[in-house]
Amino acid sequence: MLGGGQLGQMFCHAAKRAGIKTHVFCPGDGEPATQVCDHKTIAAYNDLDAVEKFAQSVDAVTYEFENVPAATAAACAKHCPVRPGQQVLAVAQDRIVEKTTLQSHGIPVGPFAKVESLEGLREAAKTIGSPAVLKTASGGYDGKGQRVLHSADEAGLIYAWEDLGKQPCVYEGFIDFEQEVSIVAARGVNGEVVTYGPIANTHRNHILDISVVPSGAPKNVEAEAVAIAKRVMEKLDVVGVLCVEFFQTRDGKMLVNELAPRPHNSGHLTIDAYTYSQFDQQVACVLGQPPLPIELKQPAAMVNLLGDLWPAREVADAPLWGLLEAGDTLHLHLYGKAQARPGRKMGHLTALARTPHEAIRDAVEARSKVTPRPPLERG
Ligand code: AMP
Repeated sequence: MLGGGQLGQMFCHAAKRAGIKTHVFCPGDGEPATQVCDHKTIAAYNDLDAVEKFAQSVDAVTYEFENVPAATAAACAKHCPVRPGQQVLAVAQDRIVEKTTLQSHGIPVGPFAKVESLEGLREAAKTIGSPAVLKTASGGYDGKGQRVLHSADEAGLIYAWEDLGKQPCVYEGFIDFEQEVSIVAARGVNGEVVTYGPIANTHRNHILDISVVPSGAPKNVEAEAVAIAKRVMEKLDVVGVLCVEFFQTRDGKMLVNELAPRPHNSGHLTIDAYTYSQFDQQVACVLGQPPLPIELKQPAAMVNLLGDLWPAREVADAPLWGLLEAGDTLHLHLYGKAQARPGRKMGHLTALARTPHEAIRDAVEARSKVTPRPPLERG
């Protein structure tokens, strides 16, 4: 596993259940995945000697974030399969390449234009109009590297261009969506595909806040999303897990927003809500097995627990999680991060219920009951 975050950690948990040993490669000791893996290499991703030694010691390599440097993935590929492969990694690392590749395969995306200069930005604003979102082509996540443009006035364009660092961007027409949904898909080397969802996702401050399944999308819209996800997996020859994020438009169309060639935050509810999780699939498919058959056990909702819930940065001042011991319908997952920061994903809660609405209500209510511990007496 390249990467030491919570996605790597949940992968290691799944591997452990399957009796498989894990080796995590990441730059920071103490990161979530390093707390639960069997072996670890703590080194920089561009330390290619360390990367090769790591790749020689394992049967297959996967990753938990798409910004793995191409040279790192290539160094691993000299010694063992890297799954999902380097093609989809390159596509998912650059929004311009991503949108253009999807379009070339006939996959529906919203209106967009490539922007490489202020002049190009003016052109894009003229062609596509506003409101719009300007996004850096690479390096952005959780809303970082994005500016919403409510109008195309010159001052606003200059400000957005400079604020994002005058780098290659995509200019996207703002989609007035009905809801945002994701499909998490797993594909084996044999080409077999299994999909979760659609999962409906709500964001707060550009960060995923709530995910719920079933999404309530009409059957034909759901079938369209599943078909698109399968097409993406096949066209990009993905072996492993990939999440496709969609905008469901008000007239029932599915437009692809972005791809993540790995398990996804919106798929965390699969741990408790399905017979096998997205991480079980990652373990199976990365090791060359077919995807596992799945079934939704119950409607479920997941809420993220961000560092904002921690009254102080040190995790010693954790909220009173004991309040959440609430039987077998509420499942708490904490990632063991040492420091809490606003917006940082510290854990999540999944509620299972009779209906999706009840699941959301239970998950949100449980989160709101988490009271900050009174400040510790110091000195
Ligand atoms: P992204 O990093 O592309 O997933 O964007 C983060 C969030 O910003 C999305 O999940 C949407 O809620 C919102 N967003 C991004 N692009 C657009 C768009 N073109 N139209 C409307 N909302 C958007």
